[in-house]
Amino acid sequence: MPAFAGILFSLFICALKAGKSPSMSPRYQTLYNRKVKVYRWLYEFTFGQCGECVSSGCACTDRICSHVESSARKRGVELERFAHPLRFIGPNGCSVPPHLRETCTIYLCQKAQGTPGFDKDRYDRLKVLCSTLDWKLMCLEDDVT
Ligand code: SF4
Ligand code: SF4
Repeated sequence: MPAFAGILFSLFICALKAGKSPSMSPRYQTLYNRKVKVYRWLYEFTFGQCGECVSSGCACTDRICSHVESSARKRGVELERFAHPLRFIGPNGCSVPPHLRETCTIYLCQKAQGTPGFDKDRYDRLKVLCSTLDWKLMCLEDDVT
């Protein structure tokens, strides 16, 4: 799936989730823990692909930060803000854990995807894993609302 389509899908999932209360059932917790792990893998993959790119933060906007903040709040998480114009940019870059900023974690520009040796299969597999987990979690949230 092209990066932009992935972002749209992720935004769609996030929009569907807005306002849902997370269930703390053992099944939900297991899936959520897996989500944390898999989004970390995806983050490490995309971060490694970007390398020392000077455009770091290329896709960041205040609107996305705001959406990330309100989604986290609905999950009972209050994110730390910094003085940077993009509220979550601290001394080591964005401080939001990868699974709480799904759209940002998934994004990888076309140039980065076109570099020699880019492992598109792995990128696609990780995106499918993340989307599948988001979907399963959303279904469980639907079951309790
Ligand atoms: S997504 Fe592309 S432009 Fe953005 S930091 Fe990575 S390589 Fe640079
Ligand atoms: S949440 Fe972090 S990565 Fe996402 S747009 Fe804001 S600063 Fe950028």
